[in-house]
Amino acid sequence: MFDLIIIGAGPAGISAAFEAQKLNLNYLVLEKNLIGNTIYQYPVGLTVFSTVNELELQPNTLFPAREKPTREELLSYYTRFVLENNLDIQWEEAVTKVEKSGANHFVISSVKGEYEAANVLFAFGAMQYPRHLGVKGEDLPKVHHLFTETYPYVKKNAMVVGGGNSAGEAALFLAAEGALATLATFRKDWEETDPKQGCIKHWVKEPLEQQLEKNCLDVFFLGSVLEIKEKEIVLEEESGEIVVLPNDVLFILIGSDADLTMLENLGVETKDSKYGEVPVYDKETFETNVAGVYVVGHFTEERHIVGAIEMPKRIIPQIAAKFEKAKSV
Ligand SMILES: Cc1cc2nc3c(=O)[nH]c(=O)nc-3n(C[C@H](O)[C@H](O)[C@H](O)COP(=O)(O)OP(=O)(O)OC[C@H]3O[C@@H](n4cnc5c(N)ncnc54)[C@H](O)[C@@H]3O)c2cc1C
Repeated sequence: MFDLIIIGAGPAGISAAFEAQKLNLNYLVLEKNLIGNTIYQYPVGLTVFSTVNELELQPNTLFPAREKPTREELLSYYTRFVLENNLDIQWEEAVTKVEKSGANHFVISSVKGEYEAANVLFAFGAMQYPRHLGVKGEDLPKVHHLFTETYPYVKKNAMVVGGGNSAGEAALFLAAEGALATLATFRKDWEETDPKQGCIKHWVKEPLEQQLEKNCLDVFFLGSVLEIKEKEIVLEEESGEIVVLPNDVLFILIGSDADLTMLENLGVETKDSKYGEVPVYDKETFETNVAGVYVVGHFTEERHIVGAIEMPKRIIPQIAAKFEKAKSV
């Protein structure tokens, strides 16, 4: 019987494991894919936008070659942190079900076995369901909902659909490295400058504008995407005009959603928010309405790595205190 099972080994799950280890909790982390899997899925060579102090699990432990780390430096940092601190993480082991079998007693089923724990911390991020456009042809092999690298697309008609930073970064990689790149986006997203609205960050937008000036990128102001064909894409312009463009590869980067089914099956309440559906939780304790079930990280209302790392430093001592209190009674 574990004191705590943590689901997911992204920055939130790793931070929680480190705190649990420091406080001598009997814990285990179960991770579906690889340590830091969301970062593993960032584009190869990406420089992240957060500063070092926002990404570090402990102060003065991350030393990138330049001001901000690349995907590779960050992934190496989190992986080495897990290994060097001997954190108890089992990766390539997806959790499939969590059931409450009594007060302070949960049964956690994974693809490899069954575990019991007094508390469960969900740190499973929000990458489970990449959003789809729902148009004809979206299931063609040339259509991707994740962008990881550019070199297979040199001199190919490559289109990115989306209005956020991930779409902007993908379009920039493609344009800069020789693809015939088009960013198809709504004008309001392209013109948005408030970072709180999830727009393209200015240090991505400015080089995108340079690529536009050099004719290495097109920006297409969308009404909507109508149909994806094997060698073409049918779009409606913002003016309502229908346009058919040659297209070899399409990246649909319009966000992703968490799978809250396991939480909902446990009876955890959810609500609508500006990020979509999120679990309801106490803003101080991060405990949900189901006692012993905690949430942290990117599927809550804390959307950045800094919050994913900081929140466990508040949550885990509270869980440890419950055991101290029980011992002293
Ligand atoms: C291209 C890109 C660039 C970004 N750059 C930045 C940046 O510069 N700064 C920043 O703050 N944020 C950035 N983000 C967002 C950042 O990646 C997330 O905020 C961060 O990963 C959240 O950490 P997390 O631990 O909450 O979730 P995640 O890192 O998503 O970790 C969740 C983990 O849970 C695992 N998991 C899911 N389901 C299960 C299951 N059923 N069983 C077991 N394990 C499961 C997943 O495999 C995953 O490893 C970026 C995102 C993208 C896509």
